[in-house]
Amino acid sequence: MEKEEEKKEEIKKEPEEKPEEESEKENFVIKFDKVDKFYAEDAPVLKGINLEIKEGEFISLVGPSGSGKSTFLKLIYAEEKPTEGNVLFGEISIATIKKSKLPAHRRNIGTIFQDFKLLPKRTAFENVAYAMEVSGFSKVEIEEDVPQILEIVGLQNKANKFPHQLSGGEQQKVAIARALVNKPLVIIADEPTGNLDPESSQDIVELLLEINKLGKTIVLASHDKEIVDRANKRVVALDNGKIVCDTKKGKYKVIKCT
Ligand code: ADP
Ligand code: MG
Repeated sequence: MEKEEEKKEEIKKEPEEKPEEESEKENFVIKFDKVDKFYAEDAPVLKGINLEIKEGEFISLVGPSGSGKSTFLKLIYAEEKPTEGNVLFGEISIATIKKSKLPAHRRNIGTIFQDFKLLPKRTAFENVAYAMEVSGFSKVEIEEDVPQILEIVGLQNKANKFPHQLSGGEQQKVAIARALVNKPLVIIADEPTGNLDPESSQDIVELLLEINKLGKTIVLASHDKEIVDRANKRVVALDNGKIVCDTKKGKYKVIKCT
């Protein structure tokens, strides 16, 4: 009986093409709850941050250099702990997470940075394969998954190229492929286009949008107006340790927060 009811539910849901707003999931995947972060006693970096990020959301975190964007991402990754308040990642409390739980927590998160951090003596394929090896995947899984992941990022034809044979944008795509190996729920990208020309930067944001469409939650920290505008998703602006703007669908350039 139960199963039949479930089936009906599914059938009911499927054909409806709901407008984006209605189909948004209500569950948060990340929640900042009254978060303060100080590195030094007299210099607060984040003050009283409250923010929920829902599953499947794409958010662009913007703000001037030193406004706490990277710190915000490090709190999600549990690379830093909140000084006051808490960050929740699903059920996981970052304030109290045990060291032994960190690897499992971090497998839920793919990370992308300004510098691509590729292994220079390994091909694109091997760079991605190496990340899988480190995560304990079998040879069979690696042989099966790496080509698929390279296809997602559009590098199936460059699998055997070494980093120095790839453009900056392509190298960043390898880094994005590597960030996908654990099938993470969330991707955090800290200034991913900081080393790229405008055209490659657009490519990277397009790819992040694609990956978001596959269901991944994306948290992008960037002061690159062009790519934040291109993303055209929720924009959260930090200034002086506080959220000064949170727009549902936003363009960096139209934000007036004062
Ligand atoms: P953003 O990414 O927006 O440029 P950050 O989060 O990197 O900002 O830095 C916010 C502030 O915190 C800056 O003033 C920076 O100098 C300081 N800060 C960042 N990391 C540390 C650290 N590990 N120790 C001390 N101060 C830090
Ligand atoms: Mg930063």
